[in-house]
Amino acid sequence: MSKNLKIIIIVIVILLIAIISFSFSLKGKKSEDSSNKLNIVVTTFSTYDFTKQIVQNNAEVTYLMGPGADSHGYEPSAKDLIKIKESDVFIYIGGEMENWVDKVLKSDTIDENKTKLIKVTDCVETIEEVEVDGAEDTYEEEHNAFDEHIWTSPTNAKKMVKYLSEEFTKLDSKNKEIYQKNADNYIAKIEDVRIKIQEIVSNKKRDILVFGDKMPMQYFLNEFGLRASAAFNGCSTEAEPSTKTITYLINKIKEENIPVILYIELGTGNTAKSIANEAGCKVMQIQTLHNISKKDFDSGETYVSLMTRNLEVLKEALN
Ligand SMILES: [Zn+2]
Repeated sequence: MSKNLKIIIIVIVILLIAIISFSFSLKGKKSEDSSNKLNIVVTTFSTYDFTKQIVQNNAEVTYLMGPGADSHGYEPSAKDLIKIKESDVFIYIGGEMENWVDKVLKSDTIDENKTKLIKVTDCVETIEEVEVDGAEDTYEEEHNAFDEHIWTSPTNAKKMVKYLSEEFTKLDSKNKEIYQKNADNYIAKIEDVRIKIQEIVSNKKRDILVFGDKMPMQYFLNEFGLRASAAFNGCSTEAEPSTKTITYLINKIKEENIPVILYIELGTGNTAKSIANEAGCKVMQIQTLHNISKKDFDSGETYVSLMTRNLEVLKEALN
């Protein structure tokens, strides 16, 4: 081998080593970047939306249940459990809808030195589940449970955003100012919708909403001084109401001349439609923010935009 060829080979080898080690260092940098970000796992839509609004792209946010799913029927898969185990922050509501969380917490799946647990019901005053007028009695065992649907009250929603932003700030102080600013902006937007709802309620003709469906909005009703009749309590899993319940709601609508019967997001609205046919009123969908449809999720709808959608519904239903 000539001397020149030897030199060329040595140079090529050196170059190769340089290229390989450079690309490794790039990879190292990349994973360092994403591991610097908080890895947050949330169970429900409201907490997902609030978290996203606060952190935007400064943290990884996983929405465990995902859009379109029935929050009460959800059970975590093995993959979901790994996501929870690997998270820096795990955010849950902490009601009977999330009984599975209690099991996970008891099972030692989560290392609390690694994963910060945030139970959002800690930041609001919870109420006991109430029996809704007209509803099927389906709550034999769970009667004394607290009502977990805290986010339906905009005032609670503001508290949740504040609470989450304070926790994120503690865990990720380098983004403190961003989180606080984003939280303040979102709280202002929620307050804006709350004021608009209050205006509608202040000018209302009636104080009752009729649900041909489940009625998970007790916190909302309490906040605005409204009452409801419904086919089912809270989030009962019963599919078909009895003839007695249907007749009761039809008579109620006729007697009180109620203009609208409601059904909730992700429902078929079939019960509401058949009651409306008999009673001669309109059917409208109300957003309880329990979960979001796939379509709304993909088009970037938020807690605020969906609550805003309720304004037209409330205008018609309360007048
Ligand atoms: Zn529910």
